Amino acid sequence: MKIICIGRNYADHAKEMNAEVPEFPVIFMKPDCALLKDGQDFYYPEFTQDLHYECEIVIKIDKVGKNIAEKFAHKYYSELSLGIDFTARDLQSNCKEKSLPWEIAKSFDNSAPISNIWMKTDKIDWNELNFSLKKNGEEVQKGNTNQLLFSVDKIIAYVSRFLTLKTGDLIFTGTPSGVGPVQIGDILEGFIDEQKMFTFKIK
Ligand code: MG
Repeated sequence: MKIICIGRNYADHAKEMNAEVPEFPVIFMKPDCALLKDGQDFYYPEFTQDLHYECEIVIKIDKVGKNIAEKFAHKYYSELSLGIDFTARDLQSNCKEKSLPWEIAKSFDNSAPISNIWMKTDKIDWNELNFSLKKNGEEVQKGNTNQLLFSVDKIIAYVSRFLTLKTGDLIFTGTPSGVGPVQIGDILEGFIDEQKMFTFKIK
């Protein structure tokens, strides 16, 4: 199982990062040891002083595919959920400055917490899918998938040109603006519309 993540997929987040809006989806990956299920503890890693949350809609691939045409992409997934793309922002900035790959900032153990709840995508209106993140009870991020620069189907078409997508693979589709730091003791709660999807405590 692999975790594919899309960077800069919301214009307002690209702007807050002082990054250009990309011409093609920006892809990076996390290993399977990055997965953390709701109910498991997250421990603040010792190698960063600036750990950031990025709340994202996650798609689960349920069919093997390569070179998938955008118009058939919807046949390759049927469920979505909500997760966090944890980012060691200080390490990422160092890597970016030196034009180095940023894996250590994005792909460490437990850097991909995810809800245990999966929603069927056939009933989803991609223009009306609201999601949000609360930190210690206060809303810090709010997104709607109608703001995605690259739709889920476009992402699948693009990614599958390079990688074979396999059953169980996850795609983190990018984060809206409002990313920020967490401290030990913080509680992160994710929502899709009114439904609570996960609670993670930083220990
Ligand atoms: Mg992200």
